[in-house]
Amino acid sequence: MALVKSIVQHKHCAVCKKVCPVERDTCSKECEEELKKGIKKRKFYYYLLWAMMAVFIAIMLISIKFG
Ligand SMILES: [Zn+2]
Repeated sequence: MALVKSIVQHKHCAVCKKVCPVERDTCSKECEEELKKGIKKRKFYYYLLWAMMAVFIAIMLISIKFG
């Protein structure tokens, strides 16, 4: 029943969506690197969003004070 097990217990690569082992998130080292890069990029956008929010709130506060 090894075949059935391999069909049931499988995962898809987080990067290229190919089938990969359950204990891993990616199918290859290349995809692992891609995933790490993607996480870094996402973090960057997350901080950028917060920075923009802070600027927006500052502008609002200034316009309330002086408007
Ligand atoms: Zn992959």
